[in-house]
Amino acid sequence: GPATGQPSSQEGALRGDKGVKEEAEVGQTSYLLRALSLARGEILLLSCAFFCLAVSSFSSLILPNYQGRILDHVIQRAVGLFKRDVVLLIVFSLVTGLFEAVRNLCFAVVGKRVLKTLQDKLFTGIIIQDIAYFDGTTSGELTSRLTNDVASMAEPVNWMLSALLRNFLALGGGFLMCFIISWKLSMLAFTTMAPIMQITAVYSRWSRELNRKRYALLAEANSAAAEALGNIRTVHAFSTEDVEIERFKSKTFAAMQKGVRDAFAYAGAVAINDWLDLGASVLILWYGGVLVMNNRLSAGKLITFQLYWNQIQGAYKGIMSVLMSLTRAAGAAQRVLSLVDALPDIDPNAGTMVSSLEGEVKLEDVYFYYQMRPQNPVICGINLEVDKGQVCALVGRSGGGKSTIVHLLMRFYDPTQGRILLDGWNLRDLNLKSVHKHMGLVAQDTQMFACSIEENITYGLPHYHPEDVEEAARYANAHDFISRFPEGYATRVGERGVRLSGGQRQRIAIARMLLRRPKVLLLDEATSSLDTESEALVQQALDRLIGEGGRTIILVAHRLSTVRNADNIAVLDKGSLVEQGTHEQLLERKSGVYERLVRRQLHKTSNRIVED
Ligand code: ADP
Repeated sequence: GPATGQPSSQEGALRGDKGVKEEAEVGQTSYLLRALSLARGEILLLSCAFFCLAVSSFSSLILPNYQGRILDHVIQRAVGLFKRDVVLLIVFSLVTGLFEAVRNLCFAVVGKRVLKTLQDKLFTGIIIQDIAYFDGTTSGELTSRLTNDVASMAEPVNWMLSALLRNFLALGGGFLMCFIISWKLSMLAFTTMAPIMQITAVYSRWSRELNRKRYALLAEANSAAAEALGNIRTVHAFSTEDVEIERFKSKTFAAMQKGVRDAFAYAGAVAINDWLDLGASVLILWYGGVLVMNNRLSAGKLITFQLYWNQIQGAYKGIMSVLMSLTRAAGAAQRVLSLVDALPDIDPNAGTMVSSLEGEVKLEDVYFYYQMRPQNPVICGINLEVDKGQVCALVGRSGGGKSTIVHLLMRFYDPTQGRILLDGWNLRDLNLKSVHKHMGLVAQDTQMFACSIEENITYGLPHYHPEDVEEAARYANAHDFISRFPEGYATRVGERGVRLSGGQRQRIAIARMLLRRPKVLLLDEATSSLDTESEALVQQALDRLIGEGGRTIILVAHRLSTVRNADNIAVLDKGSLVEQGTHEQLLERKSGVYERLVRRQLHKTSNRIVED
């Protein structure tokens, strides 16, 4: 049979987290460039921002010059020049402030827009992933990606570029001005730069590694929280609040430790830097003072030099802090963009469109294992044919692979080997979206959205008639309990439908599926037992469905009464089809698996075919 494509996309996405470090370093720059290129749609705002940046940088570069000149005019008692330069200083200050403000505004707006684009892209990238992808990750991890990573990646875009450019301009301009004023003084001051650079380099390497670990721990804390909150009933039922709190605390504690260590290193690096800065100032004042006393430099020039020097220092620190957050952003960008890039193996939009289905289903020599457990074959060479309009029941011990077959028929996963045919077409060649229009699934655990009953029944349908909704609900034995709610169909069901009972959720799921009039129906009967009344009502709805005919129905069944009427009963055991036939045919085989299951059940009061 054809070999399956390994979900390389999934691996690609995971590589973002756990990848080889060196590879990550190399890749990060390109991810960063791509992160920047997200802003390319904002040309107008960016041009405006860069224009403002140029103006404000230039005018702020002039300021120290006037400040020094004013001092010289004071010393020389030159009132006219003094007044003129004060006015000019005010003008340049106002210009600088104004253009700075506009620049900040433009970059902030670009940042917000990029953030939105990125959030949308990432969510789109996540939701289209294969089900296998979600088997291998946690929703906490993904929401962490959507919030933390996206923010720390998009945020720098708005000021990274501008801060970097502005600081480089200030640095270059400052150097130039310093050298013009006095190259000797400049050379002396710059001797302190080398150790400062060295310290910054050491610190940033150390900090980057620490923060990488810290963010990983924070994502784990996120996962722990999401899991505990998602299973809140179990947590309360087992009174494991403290266990969950401890689990969460251990993650935040470890993250905090890394943060504190970073804080110490940061404080140390800053202290040494500051001492070196002060040392430079002392050197400038000492040697500059000597120059002034020898009439080789004016006092105003010395002040100007000092101001430019401060500007260089500030710019250097600015560049360093931008570079630091840039590496953080690069890590986030890699995690986010590798997920955006990861194309699912199963593309729901590709393939031949299906306008209608007859409903003939065939499994040809199908093998399957879950990616998460490649050593555990779940389906081992199954051949099964279901004619159109037939009812096929899948029975057998739990873990036999019944639900997996339903997953394969929905194409949540592709078979590892073999083919699944729908009306003679390979399921892989058909457009999945169009196929799903004619297929209905009622899964074991009914998934509901936190909206009204009506919205849950009509989920995903753009147009519908309210009468049809009610009809479907009646058919599914759901109308009576729905209309007993004071708000009827507008009743909100709570997150994942927590405000409904299991039986009610199931009947809503049946109504949801019926409204679509699918040609092929997949029913995965809930293993959890419902109360007798609910069970009878669900059963009645199912019997009605099965009895009606005209649809192909494949059901995973645990109740003998459901199974008995099936046209074909397929008995699965450990992933193999061990028996098939009608109820009567299978009973005739003395000591067959099915016969044994039925015999065991008859000794019980319950209506279920035994699972274990
Ligand atoms: P049944 O429906 O007959 O009870 P399933 O099809 O649910 O059996 O499961 C068959 C086997 O596949 C079991 O051993 C189960 O542990 C395994 N399995 C089911 N779902 C997954 C999954 N998402 N990832 C890995 N293994 C799975």
